[in-house]
Amino acid sequence: MRRRLKVTITKIRTRTGSASGFEVFCPVCGGQTETLSIEESARLLAAGRERLEEMIAARLVHTVSIAGAPRRVCVNSLPGRKS
Ligand SMILES: [Zn+2]
Repeated sequence: MRRRLKVTITKIRTRTGSASGFEVFCPVCGGQTETLSIEESARLLAAGRERLEEMIAARLVHTVSIAGAPRRVCVNSLPGRKS
């Protein structure tokens, strides 16, 4: 399961290139982190948008607010991405 998630992340990164996955400061991690859109993160989880929103509400997944842009999800906080 963990391995499959990593493969999926690699594929999405390759496909979206620099248009997404840009780095921002995550206050929870306390450093620069790559981020994904809510939609991309829900796709990675394979558990759906609702489950992702639950995890965000429970603070299991970090979100970063950027002025004038939709919420971004901290890649470090996604399951299988913890170091
Ligand atoms: Zn974070």
